Amino acid sequence: MTTNHDLFARAQKLLPGGVNSPVRAFRSVGGEPFFTERADGPYLWDVEGKRYTDYVGSWGPMIVGHNHPAVREAVERAIRNGLSFGTPCAAEVTMAETIVSLIPSVDMVRMVNSGTEATMSAIRLARGATGRSKIVKFEGCYHGHGDSFLVKAGSGALTFGVPTSPGVPKASADLTLTLPYNDIDAAKLLFAQEGKELAGLIIEPVAGNMNCIPPKDGYLQALRELCTEHGVLLIFDEVMTGFRVALGGAQAYYGITPDLTCFGKIIGGGMPVGAYGGRQDLMEQIAPSGPIYQAGTLSGNPVAMAAGLAMLQLIQAPGFYDDLTARTVRLTDGILAEAKKAGVPFSVNRVGAMFGLFFTDETVESYTQATTGDVAAFNRFFHGMLERGVYLAPSAFEAGFVSSAHDDAVIAATIATAGEVFASLQA
Ligand code: PLP
Repeated sequence: MTTNHDLFARAQKLLPGGVNSPVRAFRSVGGEPFFTERADGPYLWDVEGKRYTDYVGSWGPMIVGHNHPAVREAVERAIRNGLSFGTPCAAEVTMAETIVSLIPSVDMVRMVNSGTEATMSAIRLARGATGRSKIVKFEGCYHGHGDSFLVKAGSGALTFGVPTSPGVPKASADLTLTLPYNDIDAAKLLFAQEGKELAGLIIEPVAGNMNCIPPKDGYLQALRELCTEHGVLLIFDEVMTGFRVALGGAQAYYGITPDLTCFGKIIGGGMPVGAYGGRQDLMEQIAPSGPIYQAGTLSGNPVAMAAGLAMLQLIQAPGFYDDLTARTVRLTDGILAEAKKAGVPFSVNRVGAMFGLFFTDETVESYTQATTGDVAAFNRFFHGMLERGVYLAPSAFEAGFVSSAHDDAVIAATIATAGEVFASLQA
């Protein structure tokens, strides 16, 4: 039988760290990753046949669970017609119509192949449209691995202690100004000093790459006002929150209208897809209708569009988000109650179907709180859960995701497992 260990040994000789994306290597939590053979509903099965209840969901896309028949069948139908055309296809138009109808701030959209491409392109558009060079991002927010964003970044960059990566030219990093998340006074000060030079401010409207940290009341609105006052484009990176915290994303949830929005994950239904969109006067500046260049050989790929469209159909079912939120509340309340029972200092954050678990009594609202939390306790908890067949994101700095396939029985089993693990941590 092929084992996880054998595969990882082979992988490490050929792939940097044995993986194609850093957090998958388990370096933060220690130990070795498992290799997934198949996935269905709320579960993953590794190559050794062990089953895991999955709260990572391919890092977000799997909001209806893995291998949903409607998505799979849409892909099967699409591939019969060919894998890529390099010409326009009807599914791209339907996709654009769907996104525009679901997200009121988006008049026009451009499909790309990943969240990273979406954010890089949105920043280029912001710079091209404003004629300004500097951008603002937030400590601990992750916007993919473009040079402009690997400055005090979250996710894997934070996990491995290299929030600002070697290889990012100083000249590029100097154009990225960073602010503490959830601190409006710091933003006001920066805008007073630099406002005239800022092209755009990019933010995860619910931070999900330094664990899960919701915006404080009024924070996003205050940023909206600052951007408007200084002629700075407000860019919501909804690669994670889009179609997850609500059907209309975080912008619908909090009632804010950004100038540009980046998407990824869920809109691809599990295929490699991203998109950026926004106001018509801005989007029309993209080539070929305007001079700001951005392109892609496989962008708007017919198979990816088919998967994404099937997914976007499923999540428009009446009550889908109320139900998903209720499941997330049940899960996080249940885990919190088990922690309290065992006397473990613990708190949770959640917005829609996104959640964060913290080994502290405090409510976590900032990057500083998130990064000074008890990482060792999280790691012990992670391994206790994994051993018992529950897969949480393998880092204290990642959000968790619930899908519509996580039914009451699955959630109750996870809560019971958490209870066992908390008790074992205290033993
Ligand atoms: N933006 C956010 C908020 C993300 O969470 C991610 C990935 O996790 C990205 C951008 C980058 O997306 P991708 O990994 O598809 O390039």
